Amino acid sequence: MKGKVYLVGAGPGDYKLITLKALECIKEANVIVYDRLVNEKLLNEAKESCEFIYVGKSSSNHTLTQDEINEVIANKAKEGKVVTRLKGGDPYVFGRGGEEGEYLLERNIEFEVVPGITSAIGGLCYAGIPITHRNYASSFHVITGHLKDEEKELNWKVLAQFDGTLVFLMGVKNLENICTNLIKEGKDKKTPVAIINWATRYNQRVVTGNLENIYEIALKENIKPPSLIVVGDVVNLRDKLNFFENKPLFGKSIMVTRARSQNSKLVEKIMDLGGNPIEFPTIKIEEISPNKELEEAIKNIEKYSYIVFTSQNGVKIFFNKLVDLSLDFRKLNNIKIVAIGPATANALKDRGIIADIVPKEYIAESIFDELKDKLISKDNILIPRASKARDYLIEKLSEICYVKEIKIYDTVLGDVNKEEILDLLESNKIDYITFTSSSTVKNLVKIIGEKNLEKLKNAKLISIGPITSNTIKSFDLDVYKEAKEYTINGILDIISKDIRGE
Ligand code: SAH
Repeated sequence: MKGKVYLVGAGPGDYKLITLKALECIKEANVIVYDRLVNEKLLNEAKESCEFIYVGKSSSNHTLTQDEINEVIANKAKEGKVVTRLKGGDPYVFGRGGEEGEYLLERNIEFEVVPGITSAIGGLCYAGIPITHRNYASSFHVITGHLKDEEKELNWKVLAQFDGTLVFLMGVKNLENICTNLIKEGKDKKTPVAIINWATRYNQRVVTGNLENIYEIALKENIKPPSLIVVGDVVNLRDKLNFFENKPLFGKSIMVTRARSQNSKLVEKIMDLGGNPIEFPTIKIEEISPNKELEEAIKNIEKYSYIVFTSQNGVKIFFNKLVDLSLDFRKLNNIKIVAIGPATANALKDRGIIADIVPKEYIAESIFDELKDKLISKDNILIPRASKARDYLIEKLSEICYVKEIKIYDTVLGDVNKEEILDLLESNKIDYITFTSSSTVKNLVKIIGEKNLEKLKNAKLISIGPITSNTIKSFDLDVYKEAKEYTINGILDIISKDIRGE
């Protein structure tokens, strides 16, 4: 097989500011060579077998030179691999993508370039600054601020006269120089300036001032790279157009403890609301397999009058088994379906089934209250569910009619990096920890160990409902808030309210 290289722009940082084409290149890659400015969450989209090579600068480690990077890319491609060279922003905007392309061309290695949203435009947008505007700037100039010999490299006179927006990349270290030179060459010292640090990320920070005072302000605020320096009247629009920093969860790090297979909606919503999801899947769902009992129940499903699904996992495993047995949902004709919670109801809907009953509350006591008047002694109920579920519902329903419980999955400890989370907790980098079930609480405690429980007090613990809250309290921990509606939306609601101070 012939190797190939994709020189790919990964966008300015926000996970979703990447093109479909770039995402395809990540999914297809055998090797991904990436920089510091690439959002590492994107690497989760790669194949399991994909090799990752970090070539970004970091102050402590040896940094690869551009020649060494070129060599790595070319050698991997020569081995017949698909190499995705992932760069922050656009590969041709101060990304040395041109040089990498030339190098590959000289060695007859096939390559393609995938443009990305450059931070020079997208980064400004997320800070509420439009790079052009009919009333304030009819052009823009993107400039490197990383100057070896600035007198030679930049024509300050021209830049000072230019009345479009000036955007400097890699300029933080030279900020004072940039401002002094522009003022010296005649640019109004009151020209607005913004500095945008980690643009489009949850930790985006922006300071504003003018050419005369921005250096002092940036110094005081300890602004570091990577940052964009924006000079021009468009900066004043920030007050009005700053949509990103006004998002409900902006700037907050929220830990998600449920199983990776279930957490995607929560993670996605946190990102959409401007927050930083920290995935720490304390549980892993393991289907009990083989499961003769489940097979028998499905083959004789006509004998049941109700099936109660208690989770999305239950729905998934049950219906996969149905199909494995070469059956489909028509076999469930005449059986009433109960879904506990809207997520379970939605999982059924995805399979073409509208649940007959979705209890208003999702804890066993309320479910029983809703079902008890509907049931008669001749009913037969099937409940396929997790092995460690509470007995209450089964016991109470059995007082009315026949109930068959089948254990279809185990929730086991997730594979997670404990040290990483303890570090984040110790340095107060986690604002909220969300618990969506008692097992997420118990497993988190098991993973970090009782002796580290104190560290959980550095974050606000949010519980999905009363049962989970009781489990949290049983470890002598405080429940900071409990969701009003026992769903992930309920959790996000309560966090958003807390941030607004309600
Ligand atoms: N190819 C990239 C730029 C690479 S040069 C692009 O198109 O965006 C690296 C410089 O880009 C950094 O020093 C910084 O000035 C700027 N930069 C890139 N991403 C940034 C971000 N998310 N926030 C702030 N500055 C960023």
